[in-house]
Amino acid sequence: MPATKPHEPDAEVAQGSMSDSAPEAVAFASNRQLTREELERAPVRWPRPSRLLEPLEPQGRKMAAGLRSLGLQTVGDLLEHLPSDSREARTIAALGAGEQATVAVEVRSIAARPVRRRGMRPLVEASVFDPTATMRATFFNQPWLVDRYPPGTRLLLHGKADGRGGFGVSHHAPAQERLGSEPQAPASCATGHAAEPATGEAVAHYPASDGVTSTQILTLVRGSRAALGDVTEALSATTRVLEGLPDRASALAAMHFPHSREDTETGRRRLAFEELLLTQLMFLRRRAHRRAQTGAPALCEEPALTERWLASSLPFELTGDQARAVEAVRADLARSNPMQRLLMGEVGSGKTVIALYAMLRAVESGHQAALMAPTETLAEQHFATIQGLLGGEPVAAALLTGSTPARRRRDVLAKLDSGELGLIVGTHALIEPDVRFRSLAVAVIDEQHRFGVRQRAALESQRPERPPHTLHMTATPIPRTLALARYPDLDTSKLHDLPRGRRPIDTRLVTGETDRAGAYEHLRGELAAGRQAYVVCPLIDAVEQPADAEAAVVGAAAPEGELRAATAELERLRGGELRGYRLALLHGGMRPAEKQAAMSAFSSGEADVLVATTVIEVGIDVANATVMLIENAERFGISQLHQLRGRVGRGEHRSRCFLFGAPSARGSRRLRALVEHSDGFKLAELDLELRNEGELSGTRQSGFGHFRIASLPQDAQLLELARARAEAIVAGDPELLSAEHALLAVELERTLGSGSLEPIPV
Ligand code: ADP
Ligand code: MG
Repeated sequence: MPATKPHEPDAEVAQGSMSDSAPEAVAFASNRQLTREELERAPVRWPRPSRLLEPLEPQGRKMAAGLRSLGLQTVGDLLEHLPSDSREARTIAALGAGEQATVAVEVRSIAARPVRRRGMRPLVEASVFDPTATMRATFFNQPWLVDRYPPGTRLLLHGKADGRGGFGVSHHAPAQERLGSEPQAPASCATGHAAEPATGEAVAHYPASDGVTSTQILTLVRGSRAALGDVTEALSATTRVLEGLPDRASALAAMHFPHSREDTETGRRRLAFEELLLTQLMFLRRRAHRRAQTGAPALCEEPALTERWLASSLPFELTGDQARAVEAVRADLARSNPMQRLLMGEVGSGKTVIALYAMLRAVESGHQAALMAPTETLAEQHFATIQGLLGGEPVAAALLTGSTPARRRRDVLAKLDSGELGLIVGTHALIEPDVRFRSLAVAVIDEQHRFGVRQRAALESQRPERPPHTLHMTATPIPRTLALARYPDLDTSKLHDLPRGRRPIDTRLVTGETDRAGAYEHLRGELAAGRQAYVVCPLIDAVEQPADAEAAVVGAAAPEGELRAATAELERLRGGELRGYRLALLHGGMRPAEKQAAMSAFSSGEADVLVATTVIEVGIDVANATVMLIENAERFGISQLHQLRGRVGRGEHRSRCFLFGAPSARGSRRLRALVEHSDGFKLAELDLELRNEGELSGTRQSGFGHFRIASLPQDAQLLELARARAEAIVAGDPELLSAEHALLAVELERTLGSGSLEPIPV
């Protein structure tokens, strides 16, 4: 049975014939065993993956170079080079003068035109037709085409129409083989395709390069079509049946030779599923290995300090979510496998308490803990919050940032090294090479996506043989499906409920002039009561580009309405609705010192209103602010609006958020979602849904991993399926050793590299 040697790339492996027991070969419909000789004479019907390794045969050096630059060396590479889309071929009758197009035609007659003068290029002229018209196609420099394309041949021609019934061919390829008409054609995943009329035939369009065009690639693919029969099937029959997916060869065929959108999509889905399955398998295996890794200090000392702290020093009671997160962290820390937990909870949800709990567990066990934040402001805020939360517990803590004075820094470093300092909060300054911990047991990384992998690893690998437990925190709620793509191998905890006493922010959509006036009236009322307010505009200056990238992209969807600029709005308000109040300006174009001055004016209460761009999205925490007014709200994405709104409602006072928009904003499901929901996780799910439905086609989608075939968030559901399948596979066969998974293991190694099967150090 071939499957017994699955790791040899040359092994002949029958698709779908993986089974544990290898029966003896018998003659068809009898039980007579075949002799060795008979077996050797029998026609080969198994795919030969080795044939996929055969080199491509480009015509000419230029094409060879072009193929190389696309990474296409072998037949197998070519078959994996998927079309970026397929285009409907044009009809002859519809061609305009000078138009570049691809047409699907049939040859009526073809002849070489005699070359009369020296130096004149040999021409081949063919009369070709489709159901709409006939035209004269001219091929240059290829006299042999007369024999290759006899009358009756169906062709795809790419070139330029001259508007007088002539067509200069730049690329050509024979068209429309029927599936099944070739000796090695794989079974089709879809219905059998009879020859279709030439019009409207879809033509695969390939990513091309300088030396090689899409049509040339198409020609090569057509020439290599038989090799599709040699493609190995990484997905077991079980997986394919359970997920209702076609086999790999058919999926590739459906993409290269499109017959209908549905077929192509079925093929794409199958390939995307495989891609997602492979990455999920890799992550799950890594997680399993990580969980098996030991060496982290198991924190199981008496929780004297943390218990006292939770019971009496902490100035409030934990919310339900916080209590659950604390319990999960406690259990993680008690093991000698390093914790890798992601704590998601939006701004103000109380993540710092969880972080501090983990850190105090380290301290009370005689170890150290560090919290790293991406900016100095955040680090300072954390340090202040932590000191408040400690409520007088005697814990030696310090702050270390880029602006810590040299003497102080030396002192801090010495105390970290000696172990005198139990708890440290800081920025990247914590991962400078001369920072040494005596015994770092817990590392907390705030807004972890803002650090590079290396920076995160730097904190974690102080002593590789003794990895710390790590808590990653993020304020960006990520729908489960997308978390699978971004942080697939982390354990997660979520904080949904806002701390007790916090009231949801009353959010209103304001589109008419009367409502605007009412909003300003409310704002002035708050100011009169001693509260403060934010006014956010999409632009800095009236004439320039949107102040940030997301606004720019989203803006494309809502071109109407004049955009407000922070600088102009400040002047306008000063002389208008907010006359007599103290206004401050904050935007990304200001110098750091100016920004600092504006922020401290606002937080000290010297300024009543902060007129700003989205720079205030992070890093400002003024509990006295109770109004958030957002201009041109339709220009922002859900998550950004939600973040902005989170700037208010941070104190004891009721807060309100006004979303100012053009009249059409009334119909925006995004803005209505903001009005109706305050849970960031719910909003993230809705955001995903709306994006899938295309309300926001151009929003930024980075950060969801880069896949060759799958695309997120559109394929979120497929990702979910792949994850579930990967979990089932790993549960039953963690090392992928069974015959059924042998080819999957090979594919995992082939596409993700040999490291994919190895445990990676954390
Ligand atoms: P995050 O880091 O998630 O943005 P913080 O941890 O800074 O949020 O908490 C925001 C504020 O809420 C802090 O002032 C904190 O003291 C307070 N807080 C946290 N948890 C609770 C709770 N359970 N009850 C009341 N206040 C809380
Ligand atoms: Mg925080």
